[in-house]
Amino acid sequence: MRSCTWLKKVLGAPDSRAVGRFWPVALLASLLAMLSVPAMAQQAPADAGPQATLFQNVRIFDGKNANLSAPSNVLVRGNTIERISTDAIAADANTLVIDGGGRTLMPGLIDAHWHAMFIRPTPAEMLTGNEGYLNLIAGDEAKDTLLRGFTTVRDVGGPVFGLKQAIDAGFAVGPRIYPAGAMITVTSGHGDFRSLSDLPRQIGGPLTRGEQLGGYAIADSPDEVRVRVREQLMQGASQIKLTAGGGVSSPFSPIDVVTFTVPELQAAVEAAHNWGTYVTVHAFTPAAIESAIAAGVTCIEHGFLMTEADAKLIAQKGIWLSLQPLPDEMRTGMPVGSVQREKADEVFPGIARTYEYAKKYKIKTAFGTDVLFSRALAQQQGAILASLARWYTPAEALIMATSTNAELLKLSGKRAPYAGTLGVVETGALADLLLVDGNPLQNLNLVADPARNFVVIMKDGKVYKNTLSR
Ligand SMILES: [Zn+2]
Repeated sequence: MRSCTWLKKVLGAPDSRAVGRFWPVALLASLLAMLSVPAMAQQAPADAGPQATLFQNVRIFDGKNANLSAPSNVLVRGNTIERISTDAIAADANTLVIDGGGRTLMPGLIDAHWHAMFIRPTPAEMLTGNEGYLNLIAGDEAKDTLLRGFTTVRDVGGPVFGLKQAIDAGFAVGPRIYPAGAMITVTSGHGDFRSLSDLPRQIGGPLTRGEQLGGYAIADSPDEVRVRVREQLMQGASQIKLTAGGGVSSPFSPIDVVTFTVPELQAAVEAAHNWGTYVTVHAFTPAAIESAIAAGVTCIEHGFLMTEADAKLIAQKGIWLSLQPLPDEMRTGMPVGSVQREKADEVFPGIARTYEYAKKYKIKTAFGTDVLFSRALAQQQGAILASLARWYTPAEALIMATSTNAELLKLSGKRAPYAGTLGVVETGALADLLLVDGNPLQNLNLVADPARNFVVIMKDGKVYKNTLSR
């Protein structure tokens, strides 16, 4: 058998009588190392592109300051920004030179609440579809995501590890992914997509397909929570996501319920902290938000039904708030009279109020979109960012979607999958860059039409789009 021949080659000719009885420990260790996933990864596709890229005559929005730089030149070498200067920078023969023509160079956008695996499929496909198909359509969406200028996403629920691995290895095109893995919930909670016929669950018994795929994980005690959290960390999760209360899209969780107990949430927080990373929770209501705060979570997703007292507490404790300016078509797209529509009608009016609180109390606020099950809505990712103009200046919105979101990503510590600084245009930072035809600090709507206005898109020093090529 081929694999057997391969093993013999690895371990040497089987001429010793010892073969079959024991392997020398060192050889066994190296064999096991070779069998581990990273060591067995195929070589990335050959990259024949230039070693360096020089952007000439660009005005820089650096991700932090509300103004553009003087006309500048930016040299990218490898995957980092090597030099920024208003003086000319020499280019050698291996350097791709891009004449920016005075356009704006800015950091790649970051979406802090994304579900890369749950955009293209229908909910039914998500639960019962072929795994290969689900990954391939997610790969197609990942390419679109990158070509919308989103060079990084924080994935807060979904079986995304394979897609991320393929993108990082260069076999698929897409953004950097900070994966949470399965959304962890309780029986009946937001994210429990089982059907009633799956009940009763036998503790320790076989998992349903959705759980096997890693879309969600059910945990009904602190011990089970620890298992589920550690399973995600073992697969490479950069942060952990739990649902602390009811949600709109789930079949069995009313909005008003609190799902996990405080000790259950604490078990997750402790397990994540032991791995040097953090827990973020889905929560709408004051009760869900308050138990999450009591358990010591680092970040709250949505929070749309919070009270003003909750907002003060979140600010005082320095907890992050990950908000999404959900477009109203998400709500109106749900059939009138459906349970989901009723729940959306309850939650959506809180969005504007929560943004007002976030501003009033200077809460650390991240930007995300939370698009689910809609390619058409995903195509509005930039437009959803532009809709922040309701509450923020263009500079404030763009700073949030670049350097501020990158600060949130840094909380993954050593579990962050990418070494280096994201969300800024600075010497030494990772080269995730957009060249924008126009000034987005004056006209935020430019980001709503990336096909037209983002003329160059670079991730990790590699050009994925360039309509100025010469
Ligand atoms: Zn979500």
